Amino acid sequence: MEQTIEQKQNILDVWNKRPLIISGPCSAETEEQVIATATRLAATGKVDMLRAGIWKPRTRPGSFEGVGTKGLPWLQKAKALTGLPVCVEVATGKQVEDALHFGVDVLWIGARTTVNPFSVQDVADALRGADVPVLIKNPINPDLELWIGALERVGKAGIKNIGLIHRGFSSYGNTEYRNAPMWHLAIEMKRRYPDMLMINDPSHICGNRHMLQDVAQKAIDLDYDGLIIESHIDPDNAWSDAKQQITPEALGEMIGNILWRREDVASEEYHAALEKLRQQINHLDDELMQIIGQRMKVAEKIGTYKKENNITILQTNRWNSILERAFAKGEKLGLSKEFITKYFDAVHMESINHQNKIMNS
Ligand code: PEP
Ligand code: MN
Repeated sequence: MEQTIEQKQNILDVWNKRPLIISGPCSAETEEQVIATATRLAATGKVDMLRAGIWKPRTRPGSFEGVGTKGLPWLQKAKALTGLPVCVEVATGKQVEDALHFGVDVLWIGARTTVNPFSVQDVADALRGADVPVLIKNPINPDLELWIGALERVGKAGIKNIGLIHRGFSSYGNTEYRNAPMWHLAIEMKRRYPDMLMINDPSHICGNRHMLQDVAQKAIDLDYDGLIIESHIDPDNAWSDAKQQITPEALGEMIGNILWRREDVASEEYHAALEKLRQQINHLDDELMQIIGQRMKVAEKIGTYKKENNITILQTNRWNSILERAFAKGEKLGLSKEFITKYFDAVHMESINHQNKIMNS
């Protein structure tokens, strides 16, 4: 079902809207569910595009794996009723063909697909010659090269409109998040591809409902272009990702609660005040570097003594006591334990490297 030029222009108008808000169920389950979700989302007036999984990559076999191609006409119908363009996850070339055949407007590549260059290439090959925007989720592991590799494969297939979805990174064990956001990785992608659409997926980052609003706000504060959030007419009984879905009305309320901030403002006063504070930051950063440099010189001296006395570099007791002191001081200064750990790990590793050079020279 080829789309007309006007239809394609309409999709691009939506694609270029900021903020771009995408919502819909994790999975299309029944025709009634898809239509009811779409109608209720459209009624909130807060949603620009409808999402629904048709083929679901589940971590364990036996979970619901999606209704498959028969769900695609349901999305067509939802679009005809609401005017909302639809987007669907694709993981194979065949799924790309089916989705395009049924007039899906935007495709996304899921996190479990982005990790696999064979799969991404299969999808990219099927995309060749198609004029469809594609969103690429970050890979499940924190590897920017894989994410970039997927961008390149899709770009080489001739796709002009590519966007990124930041859905967090999985780790072993229980954490606060289902997928740790590791914001710095998404920020680095934004730095490398400043003009590329970047959307945040609070649903798969949180894995629950109560943190969605905070994560969505944080993404908007970091100047993301939009959000993709799962919604369901009966969240508790959803066939997949029940814990993180919210009703269309709750979604509308959540989007309504977000504080939208400007990236810049034309006030001279604001810029002057900001410039002053940025000078202070630069000055403090310079001082910090000086001090860290001095610290390394002291570490090198210790290295020389250790070498003369044939002592190992790592002294676990000493390292523990450094950390304990730092946690106690950090707490008083309002520095998180997480930051102190990362900071001291980095400083300590740098000291070890300096001492290593001395002891083995
Ligand atoms: C989804 O969006 O429903 C999905 C499967 O997400 P992810 O690829 O981020 O796990
Ligand atoms: Mn999901």
